[in-house]
Amino acid sequence: MVILRPTYLINGDVTDIDLHQLKKDGIRGLIFDLDSTLLAPHSGKITPEVAEWLREAREMFEVAIVSNNKRAKYIEEVRVLLQMPIIGHAAKPRRWAFFEILKGFNNIKPSEVAVIGDRPLTDVLGGQRAGMKTVLVWPLKSMSEPKWVTMMRKIERYVIKT
Ligand SMILES: [Mg+2]
Repeated sequence: MVILRPTYLINGDVTDIDLHQLKKDGIRGLIFDLDSTLLAPHSGKITPEVAEWLREAREMFEVAIVSNNKRAKYIEEVRVLLQMPIIGHAAKPRRWAFFEILKGFNNIKPSEVAVIGDRPLTDVLGGQRAGMKTVLVWPLKSMSEPKWVTMMRKIERYVIKT
């Protein structure tokens, strides 16, 4: 059985991640999930809070996105919007896309990369399988989800912690 344990469990969304702590811990590259982590699904828009946090993140780290989103046109729009390497249709928790991104990073080892996402079974499991550090976040504060989805997320977190 695979034990799912994110390296960092954040009680907040992506903007609550302490970038200086990651730096101190030897992280040099960040690989983001897209939907619910950086952008509200289908929105194609970034909030000012996330934009500001990302601006700081890209000054300190190499950054890229690995998404399971299959809509090639949307992925292309995001590439233009965020100006960073992005792979869609990644089928996380499969590892190939993480390794593909790593090739573009400047001489960085898997253990120096943090995979950041909102889903344990895709983002955390995938990053863990690739030998990378993992960061589990809540979906963006700007999003509102149905109650049952929030409940499922709480159960997922509970399972991880025990
Ligand atoms: Mg997501």
